[in-house]
Amino acid sequence: MNVEAAAISLAIYIVALIISLYFVLKRISEYGGLRVLIRRLLTVESKRVKKFIVDYLLQGRFFRWGGEPIVEGIFRGIAIYSYLLIMVLALLYEVLSLVGSVTPYANVMLQIILYIGLVALVSGIVILIEMRPKKRGRSWLLEMGLRDLLYISLIPILGVMAILSYIYNYFIYITLPFSSAILLLTSFTRFWYNISSALNILLGVERHPGRLTTPFKLSELSESDIENIRIGIGSFKDLDIPSLINLDSCANCGLCDSVCPAYAVGRPLSPRQVVLTLRKGARQYSDKQVVDLLSDDVFWACTTCGACVEVCPMGVDHVPFIIDVRRWLVYNSRLDSKKMALISNIAQSGNSIGLPNYGRHEWIRKLGIPTVGDVKDYDYLLWVGCMGSFDERAKNVIRSFIEILKEAGVKIAVLGDQELCCGDPLRRIGEESRFQDMAMKNIQLLKSLGVKRIVTICPHGYNTFKNEYRDIDPGFDIEVLHHTQLLAKLVEEGRIKPRMRIEEPVTLHDSCYIARINRITDEPRRIIRISSREYREARKSGFRTFCCGAGGANYWYDVPERKRISVERVEELVSTGSKVIVAECPFCIAMLEDALRNLGLDKSIRVRDLSEVLRGGQS
Ligand code: SF4
Ligand code: SF4
Repeated sequence: MNVEAAAISLAIYIVALIISLYFVLKRISEYGGLRVLIRRLLTVESKRVKKFIVDYLLQGRFFRWGGEPIVEGIFRGIAIYSYLLIMVLALLYEVLSLVGSVTPYANVMLQIILYIGLVALVSGIVILIEMRPKKRGRSWLLEMGLRDLLYISLIPILGVMAILSYIYNYFIYITLPFSSAILLLTSFTRFWYNISSALNILLGVERHPGRLTTPFKLSELSESDIENIRIGIGSFKDLDIPSLINLDSCANCGLCDSVCPAYAVGRPLSPRQVVLTLRKGARQYSDKQVVDLLSDDVFWACTTCGACVEVCPMGVDHVPFIIDVRRWLVYNSRLDSKKMALISNIAQSGNSIGLPNYGRHEWIRKLGIPTVGDVKDYDYLLWVGCMGSFDERAKNVIRSFIEILKEAGVKIAVLGDQELCCGDPLRRIGEESRFQDMAMKNIQLLKSLGVKRIVTICPHGYNTFKNEYRDIDPGFDIEVLHHTQLLAKLVEEGRIKPRMRIEEPVTLHDSCYIARINRITDEPRRIIRISSREYREARKSGFRTFCCGAGGANYWYDVPERKRISVERVEELVSTGSKVIVAECPFCIAMLEDALRNLGLDKSIRVRDLSEVLRGGQS
């Protein structure tokens, strides 16, 4: 009887396995075929293998979001392993029973299956509880969808079967073929992400979050190439294989939506929907344009803050997709007047504000700061930036910063009229050619002047110099500091001291491009702690900061929204009870002050740059 049951059970299992394999190979053919995939897997670097072990096998990716474990994610990992172990043990048990040698180990094996079954039962229930409807009255089915509910339910059911196999041995012959149901579903439903996310970790394109892709090198193109160049994602068939693997990794968990500032204020962007639509489009609508399914504003709504990328446990990289669609929109001139104005301002005036570049640093010269043409002996080139050069509020930050540097004996110089926009707004709006043109001009100038070190108050300039210029010219090896870093260094060396302590509670607004994207979080806090009596941490801070709404060139144009992102952010900062909000970016300062004015709080709450904090909170 046992032999017959084992044979039938094994036969069903093998048939299911063959069907799963057929679907797996079909999927893999979309990734270039099995041979190509194996060849690529054999060349994977050891650091990728390590990442795979930590992130995928040990489920370390679920700890990434500021070290807070995501219960559902961890239990998902445990559930998968317990499922695999039950399947392997049941298979072993049946094979042994077929060759007639299971008896001496039968009880031990069934006991192990029992324990693993208990684990599967508990972890499956935890996942279901974690995925429970968040709104009262909404059914589980509506909340999760039939396929998700079925798929997740299979784990605790398999756990129950494993337990029953211990009590009634013949249940093992149902357990094995049942375990193949999960294999089958994984191979042809969206649960394929369990496999593709592993491939994504091993084979995906690794990108520093502050570094956008470089689709071509302007310096290497001929004139006819430039005229004919088409870049970006216009139609779904423009998605390449690494992109498809990346999109396939999405588990539809919705974490990206939960942290997206654009989504929070009712802009038409849901990063999750972008990923799911691109993924579906690549398979079902390869002849259609992306903008047939998602409006232009979906892509303009993104501030490139990187919160979605940071939080995604599956390694989905949303931002390059969004930028690639923008590149296509720019190429096809689907731009409103504000976006056009930004591009033409930079092209004509050399700066994003659109004022004449001539004399942009005259006011700085009056403070006794030379231009690099006048002096050879200086420690840092101060990259003043477009805001620092022209915006009255940002000029105050520059003044404070210069005063501190003078006090500390740091010699600086500026570029004067030769300073142009760093190119960040061009690149992030999708105007790649003009960005590269601007970057090449800047690199050439900086090299010809022999500049060794740059310091800037602008996180966007900092990021572009530090992470992107080397892609344009690998010979660009200038040390780049954000003023936060230089100020912290000077404090540490005892070269500057706070002028007076701020008595009121203080909260820091971390800039996305400093804290999350470039991992600078300690330096500003060190400065604030010595300059104020009481520091209060915002709930969304450090790597988990919330955008002010200006990034990704959003400072220069509007997107339909229910509320301003800056207002959403200020409300959270104000809820700490602090009277001083510290910022480290001229764009953040402009956005936050504007939001305070909107809320009628500009008289009671101040926004101060870090350099102003060191001077006792005076601006
Ligand atoms: S992209 Fe990542 S965070 Fe967003 S739903 Fe998919 S898996 Fe979750
Ligand atoms: S980068 Fe920021 S704004 Fe853009 S989709 Fe991601 S979370 Fe949303």
